[in-house]
Amino acid sequence: MEKIVLHTCCAPCASAIIEYLLNQQIEPIIYYCNPNIYPIDEYEKRKGEITRHAEQLGLTIIDDDYNHEEWQNAVKGLECEPERGKRCLECFKYRLNRTAEWAVRNGYETFTTTLASSRWKLQSQIDEAGLQAEQNHPGSRYWNKNWRKGGLSERRSQLIKELGFYNQTYCGCEYSMKKP
Ligand code: SF4
Repeated sequence: MEKIVLHTCCAPCASAIIEYLLNQQIEPIIYYCNPNIYPIDEYEKRKGEITRHAEQLGLTIIDDDYNHEEWQNAVKGLECEPERGKRCLECFKYRLNRTAEWAVRNGYETFTTTLASSRWKLQSQIDEAGLQAEQNHPGSRYWNKNWRKGGLSERRSQLIKELGFYNQTYCGCEYSMKKP
């Protein structure tokens, strides 16, 4: 079976993509790289959900470092940007760069991400970040498939209900939390 590295932001965004890949005889290595998530309890909760799902399917899950300070430095000066703005592009670049780096270091070529499955994110920003990560890491290849097409968005909604994942209420970082 072909193997690819799937940067995974959370279980709700990943489940339909994982199902699709397995149906295509492609085994995803789940790469959990999300130091953007704040606070740590929320990070652990989301990680717990995707770990449980990966283990049920017998898939490998790799847990990257939770270096929130380094991530904050990567988006410094962009704290007040709206969602889908410049901060999000830097956030995607940070996570996909680490994904491509890990892929090459561990002998995998193709990587992609679940980030683009959400309609709240801009596909163009994610593709820009993915292609930059590919260029930064020779030997890697970013798969820029649109994971919202081909019935995958509908399947995503079905699986969220069926599998009863924890319901997230904000994107992930402290700047995306609703102000009281
Ligand atoms: S809103 Fe989401 S994508 Fe944008 S910087 Fe925060 S965690 Fe990253």
